[in-house]
Amino acid sequence: MSDFQLFIDGEFCEAASGDTFETLDPSTGESVGTVAKAGADDAARAIDAARAAFDDGRWSFKRGSERGKILAAVAKGIKDRAPELAELESRDSGATIMKAKGADIGSAVFWFRTMGEYASRLDEPESLPQTISPGPSYNYLVRDPVGVCTAIIPWNFPLQMAAWKISMALAAGNTIVLKPAPETPCTATRLAEIMRDAGVPDGVVNIIPGPGPGTGEELVSNPRVDKVAFTGSTEVGRQIMQMAANTVKKTTLELGGKSAQVVLDDADLDLAVDGVLYGIFFHAGQICTAGSRLLLPDALYDTFVERLLDRVGDIKVGPANDPASTMGPLVSQKQLDTVLGYIELGSKEGATLATGGTRLTDGGLDRGFFVAPTIFTDVTPDMTIAREEIFGPVLSVLRYDDEDDAVRIANGTDYGLSAAVWGSPTRAMKIAGRLQAGTVWVNEYHLLNPHYPFGGYKQSGIGREHGYLGLLEYTEPKHVHVGIDPSRRNKRWFDMTIPRRR
Ligand code: NAP
Ligand code: MG
Repeated sequence: MSDFQLFIDGEFCEAASGDTFETLDPSTGESVGTVAKAGADDAARAIDAARAAFDDGRWSFKRGSERGKILAAVAKGIKDRAPELAELESRDSGATIMKAKGADIGSAVFWFRTMGEYASRLDEPESLPQTISPGPSYNYLVRDPVGVCTAIIPWNFPLQMAAWKISMALAAGNTIVLKPAPETPCTATRLAEIMRDAGVPDGVVNIIPGPGPGTGEELVSNPRVDKVAFTGSTEVGRQIMQMAANTVKKTTLELGGKSAQVVLDDADLDLAVDGVLYGIFFHAGQICTAGSRLLLPDALYDTFVERLLDRVGDIKVGPANDPASTMGPLVSQKQLDTVLGYIELGSKEGATLATGGTRLTDGGLDRGFFVAPTIFTDVTPDMTIAREEIFGPVLSVLRYDDEDDAVRIANGTDYGLSAAVWGSPTRAMKIAGRLQAGTVWVNEYHLLNPHYPFGGYKQSGIGREHGYLGLLEYTEPKHVHVGIDPSRRNKRWFDMTIPRRR
């Protein structure tokens, strides 16, 4: 029996094929456990379970307030198992134990609780403007669930991302099939236990670790699915959109980024230097919102770079389970190769490697996938490392003349997920207004919150997650029009087709 099984229709099971795979600890390269490997047939069975659960109303017919109570119980279940989940998340994904405890678990709890609270907002119809023309009517809007949702997520924030997708889908009354990334399947299957114990009915949530090709594709192309929520690369996002088009599925996409951090010359340097480093090196830069392009004004360039280089050495790269580590490994050998490839390209294209740039192997790190925090200076906007998402601990430092130039460079990208401005709030907010990004932080970075919408401009995505806006992406708005004048004679517009008898 595998250590981490599929969860379909309220039961843990092996894949129909019996296939399994190993998931690795990125700090050591050792196995965390064996995982049942869902195939397209398992995906189809999970979709059937979600379809039946949706159609018989065991979840969708409940009042939002009732669903909210169960989601609150899920939040409590996660909290009760926090130490175990944090340890597992850290081992499976390479998240430092400090991040797993400080960010991942708390976020999962916060989302289930908050979306549980939002669920009851969907119970009351919203009234719409009333009309008397051509006849008097009463109009209102109800928010129905979309139906069967499927969610496909990447490996960088496995538990948080599963919690985000599931909490929103369930709050709105949908059922869901979630496919975690094969690199990091563990905590999502533990979440399945917690949801079952909290009283989520069978079939409402189904979790099937497996590969994108075949298994993931079934989740996108199966005609019994109503909505796909995808988080991952822009490249795969494009394929998802194409596959979903055949059955005109609702699709939300949270894709890549190349976020700019603009430092103004009146920034508080102590705050900005640490903020910039946190913005790029948190979770070794494996974050869609990573602030990978630093834009410095000419006058501040040398001073700021000097201070960055002075501080970057304080980042403690080490095994994820070491409480002292502030930066862990990359998730896999493949990601390590990709990042080292970009670093080589940066030097080749003429950027100056100011620090880092190598794999770290000393002190027992040789079996893991560690890269030193890396900073390139003299980067120009045309260089590959300034344009493409690296998804690793690599910062590109660019130079700007004036605010217009900063805004032009910041917006000069196909992406538009997030950005930051470091400087006096009044000036920074003006710049924030001109940036093309779904989230702009002013003197802050990376903070997401279930109350605020998140998503991308341009090729960073379609739609929003989180907040009431994000929840509404999991609903179909239904307008109900009630004619309140019972007289046939007054409904003159009927006469256009069926003349009135006199
Ligand atoms: P990815 O290659 O796009 O994979 C994401 C997920 O899609 C994985 O579960 C993957 O499974 C699956 N997949 C791949 N091909 C598929 C297909 N043809 N049909 C259905 N599913 C398929 O991304 P990644 O490398 O894991 O993650 C890094 C990317 O995610 C970055 O670009 C990052 O910016 C983005 N990201 C975005 C956000 C956001 O909120 N905007 C958050 C985090 C990450 P397999 O691995 O088996 O292929
Ligand atoms: Mg793993």
